[in-house]
Amino acid sequence: MFNNLQDKLDSAFKNLKGQGRITELNIATTVKEIRRALVDADVNYKIAKEFTDKIKDKAVGEKVINAVSPGQLMVKIVKDELAELMGGEEAPFNAKGNPAIILIAGLQGSGKTTFSGKLANYLKSQKSLNPLLVAADIYRPAAMEQLRVLGEQIGVEVHLEPENKDAVSIAKAAVASAKSKNKNVVIIDTAGRLAVDEEMMNEVANIKNAVNPQEILFVVDSMTGQDAVNTAKTFNERLDFSGVVLTKLDGDTRGGAAISIKYTVNKPIKFVSNGEKMDALDVFYPERMAQRILG
Ligand code: GDP
Repeated sequence: MFNNLQDKLDSAFKNLKGQGRITELNIATTVKEIRRALVDADVNYKIAKEFTDKIKDKAVGEKVINAVSPGQLMVKIVKDELAELMGGEEAPFNAKGNPAIILIAGLQGSGKTTFSGKLANYLKSQKSLNPLLVAADIYRPAAMEQLRVLGEQIGVEVHLEPENKDAVSIAKAAVASAKSKNKNVVIIDTAGRLAVDEEMMNEVANIKNAVNPQEILFVVDSMTGQDAVNTAKTFNERLDFSGVVLTKLDGDTRGGAAISIKYTVNKPIKFVSNGEKMDALDVFYPERMAQRILG
C-alpha cells in the first residue's frame, strides 16, 4: 500500500531505474500517477490533464531524469505548480471601509451562516474593526435565529427584521444602521437554495446592486466535489464575486475542488472553514492546500 504521492512516485521511478535509464517516456508514466492522485482528490479530469501536461514539460526541462531522487524533485515541481495555480495575484481580503460591506452568497447548507459568524468573530479581533451581522435570509426563520445565536455567542450585534420579507430593504436598512452606530464592517448573510435558482440569484444580485459591497464571498462546501465547480461558475457569472470560501475542510475530502474552482472562475480562495466552532477559520494558504491535495 502506498500512502501518498511521494511514495508512489519514488516507487515508480525505482522500478523504472531497474529497467535501465529513465527516459522522457518513463516520466510520462509517472505523470499518469500524478493525474490519478489529483482525480482521486476530486480535481476535475480535464483540469488534472491540462495541469499534468504542463508538469511533464517542466519535469523534462528541469531534468528530473538526471536527478538523484527524481520522485522527490517531481513532487516538488507538482507542489510548486499547484500552489502557484491556487495563489494568483489578486488583492487580499479588504475589510476597510465606511462601512466595508461584505456580501455572503452560496447554496443552502454550504456553511454561509456559520462562516458569517466566524468572519465577524475574526474581524472583531482586529483592532479598529467593529462588525455588524445582517440576517437577510428572509425564507428561513431558523437561519435568522441561527445568526442571532451566533452573534450573541461572539458578542457581535445582529441586524434582524423578522417581519420584513424584502431582503434588499433589510440590507439597506442595516447599512444605514451601521453608519449611525459607528460599525465599520457590515456582513450580510443571504438566503440560499438547495440548487441554483433564478429567484435566489436575482435576489442576491439585487442586494449587490443596492449596497455595492466591496467583497462578495462565495461560500462552497468542499465535500461537494465536481458540483462545486458548476455552482461557482453560475454564481460568478451573476455576481462576479471577489473571493471563495471553502468550507468543511475538516471532513475527509482532499479538497481538489479548490483547484477546479480557481482554475474555472479564476477568483482567489480567501478563507477556509474547518469546523463548526467560531474559531475554526483560516485564511487560505496555497502551499498548505497543495500539500493536502497531494496527500
Ligand atoms: P447555510 O445554509 O449556508 O447558512 O449553512 P450553515 O452555516 O447553516 O451550515 C450548514 C451545516 O454545516 C451546519 O450544521 C453547520 O454547523 C455545518 N458547517 C458549516 N461550516 C462547517 C465546517 O467548516 N465544518 C463542519 N464540519 N461543519 C460545518
